[in-house]
Amino acid sequence: MKMEELKQKILKEGMAKDSDILVVNSFLNQQVDTKLMENIGKEFAAYFKDKGVTKILTAESSGIAPALMTAANLGVNCIFARKQKSLTTDDNSYVSTVYSFTKQEMKNLIVEKSFLNEDDKILIIDDFLANGQASKAMIALCNQAGADVVGIGIVIEKSFQEGRKILEEMGYDVYSLARISKLEEGKIEFLD
Ligand code: 5GP
Repeated sequence: MKMEELKQKILKEGMAKDSDILVVNSFLNQQVDTKLMENIGKEFAAYFKDKGVTKILTAESSGIAPALMTAANLGVNCIFARKQKSLTTDDNSYVSTVYSFTKQEMKNLIVEKSFLNEDDKILIIDDFLANGQASKAMIALCNQAGADVVGIGIVIEKSFQEGRKILEEMGYDVYSLARISKLEEGKIEFLD
C-alpha cells in the first residue's frame, strides 16, 4: 500500500456495491476532495518525475481531477479525451473505442490531433483500473499520434481484475496508489 491517506479515505467513505464495483462518489467520482487530490498529484508526479513527461492524458470525467493535479505538479498540460463529439470539437481528431466498465456500453474517446504529437511523452492517469480497457483506448490514441506512453498512473486498482496484467504484458509501468484485492458488499480488502 503506497498511499495510506487514500486507503483510509476508501475505508471510511468507499462503498462496495457488490463484488465488482466500488463507489467513491464522496471524494473522487462526484464530489472531489481537493486536499486529497493535491496529494495524489504530488505522489504521481514524484513517481514519474524522471520520465520526461510532456503531457498528461486522461478520459473525462473522473480522470480529470487526479490528472490535473499531477500535471500541475509536473508543470505540464493535461489533455482529457472526450466521450462525445460536440459542436466545438474539431473533426480532425483521433478516435478510439472503449467498452465502459461502469456504463456497460461502447464509448468513443476523442482527442483533437493538434494536442497529441509524435514527440510527446505521455503519462496516462485514470481514476480506476478494472479490465484495462480505458487505458488501452488511451494508449491507442497515443499510438495513432506516434506519441510515446511513458507510464500509467491509477488512483484505485482493483487487483482482482485483469487490467494490470494486460497493461504490464504490453510493457507498461503501472503505478497504482491503492490496490484492492477483494470487494464484498460492505467490505473492502487491500493487497498491500
Ligand atoms: P477498465 O477500462 O479498466 O475496465 O475500467 C476503468 C474505468 O471504468 C475507469 O475509468 C472508471 O471510470 C470505471 N470503473 C471501473 N471500475 C470501477 C469501480 O469499481 N468504481 C468506479 N467508480 N468506477 C469504475
